[in-house]
Amino acid sequence: MTASKEFPGAVQEVLTTGKLEIICGPMFSGKSEELIRRLRRAIIAKQRVMTFKHALDNRFSFDCVASHTGDKIDAQAIDTPERILEFVKKGGVDVIGIDEVQFFANSVVYVIDELVHSGKRVIAAGLDLDFKGIPFGPMPTLLTLADEVMKLKAICAICGKDAPFSQRLIDGKPAKYTDPIILIGAQESYQARCRTCYTIEQVPPAIQKFSWLQ
Ligand SMILES: [Zn+2]
Repeated sequence: MTASKEFPGAVQEVLTTGKLEIICGPMFSGKSEELIRRLRRAIIAKQRVMTFKHALDNRFSFDCVASHTGDKIDAQAIDTPERILEFVKKGGVDVIGIDEVQFFANSVVYVIDELVHSGKRVIAAGLDLDFKGIPFGPMPTLLTLADEVMKLKAICAICGKDAPFSQRLIDGKPAKYTDPIILIGAQESYQARCRTCYTIEQVPPAIQKFSWLQ
């Protein structure tokens, strides 16, 4: 704890050991909203914040992270996680925000590990499960490495209960387990659903669903 330059008379906690915070949950659970809230608090505390998102995720805007409620914060759109290290090395950064972290290659784990070990606070938001209900890319590793995990739930679009799943709909019907990630010519949408209302057909036995554990 040291005296703060920006807030004379106040005592500010200076982070020297690094920290990883993960915000996860299904679509429409308010992950980006929570990420923006935490980053905004760091900005108010005069910490140097830099935010990143995957270049493929242009749902709202190319140069900011936006929540479904319309809240937004400036962000760099990047295609590989290694770009985060380049940006951070260029300018002094205390806090790094990453939205839709599940879209990044698995090497995002090495990048985040390096950032945390160099004393940075990393706050990353992402989907913990894909539309099949299985762990999404680098998320399981990030969740276990995290100092702090917030698992959010959305509201089921069918019954209003807590919803941990992202229901994928193709032409208005529940997607099958075997459907490819990208379906050309199909009208695709997503809903948050509870365990009862979540529907997926042609699910293989658990031993195949979690084949990488064998
Ligand atoms: Zn439901």
